[in-house]
Amino acid sequence: KLYNQVQDLKGNIRVYGRVRPFLSGKSSYLSILDSIEDGNITINISSKNGKGCKSFTFNKVFGQSTTQAEVFSDMQPLIRSVLDGYNVCIFAYGQTGSGKTYTMVGPKELTEKNQGVNYRALGDLFMLAEQRKDTFRYDVAVQMIEIYNEQVRDLLVTDGKIRNSSQTGLNVPDANLMPVSSTSDVIDLMNLGQRNRAVGATALNDRSSRSHSCLTVHVQGRDLTTGTVLRGCMHLVDLAGSERVNKSEVTGDRLKEAQHINKSLSALGDVISSLAQRNPHVPYRNSKLTQLLQDSLGGQAKTLMFVHISPEPDALAETMSTLKFAERVA
Ligand code: ADP
Ligand code: MG
Repeated sequence: KLYNQVQDLKGNIRVYGRVRPFLSGKSSYLSILDSIEDGNITINISSKNGKGCKSFTFNKVFGQSTTQAEVFSDMQPLIRSVLDGYNVCIFAYGQTGSGKTYTMVGPKELTEKNQGVNYRALGDLFMLAEQRKDTFRYDVAVQMIEIYNEQVRDLLVTDGKIRNSSQTGLNVPDANLMPVSSTSDVIDLMNLGQRNRAVGATALNDRSSRSHSCLTVHVQGRDLTTGTVLRGCMHLVDLAGSERVNKSEVTGDRLKEAQHINKSLSALGDVISSLAQRNPHVPYRNSKLTQLLQDSLGGQAKTLMFVHISPEPDALAETMSTLKFAERVA
């Protein structure tokens, strides 16, 4: 029994790599990619002479031509487990420009085909709930928050302030909780959240790369025959850019932002790696993000981390540090 529990724990954390294609205008000639085979990705460290390769192992690696549907294809069991009362966290990690938002949301010009994980996950959730409607009644509600400089902002209210709404039974940030009954309700709220996020960013350019954004979906299911109530939730997190900032080049607000991001990403890495190593002490308290997600990281909860990799030689140093982060958590 113990063996099974241990196996389960390890099976609850998955790390997937995703390499984005070259963006138009950039030459694909000089790729840092040597090969992708099963869960291994090999990076060509010295692209000039073709020597010096380093390999990293993931649960799976998605290459440059992988479609959004393929990325989502084996996630249905995760969605099902949310309806069964489990908690799930899905993270997008990587430097700015590596494709985090593409994976979670999609490109700027959204079509049904290129929609990201968020839309697909909710689509599946409503579809599965509908399939079970004779035995369960599901209520779904969402929250959207942003963590910037270790401060939480509610993206579903215009002023961003967290209101104490004391929603009992929820171990979540006390942010506005909006009931939804279809994917289109969620799309409306996601658009509202995006607009509110932009409002908070007026003084800064592209705040989105320097804050974590989190869409949380709460599901409550009532067994129509026994009356038993199950609660599960899913956190869909687009993390702040992981790029390291040269301390001698930035000062003031930018330096403070960078320090907060470093701290919270390394706290997340520490939590996930102690869970993966079954370390009895898990350091949840070291950042706002890990505090908020505590109930959805570890225990019976399931975690999926997408680690994003840019193929360009100019991004090599950052990509290597991204891969080292992944190596630590995998
Ligand atoms: P991040 O959120 O990590 O800063 P983005 O998701 O904004 O990065 O991606 C940067 C650019 O690359 C965007 O123009 C995006 O549409 C494009 N892009 C990223 N990943 C892919 C992909 N897998 N296929 C096609 N375009 C992509
Ligand atoms: Mg982004």
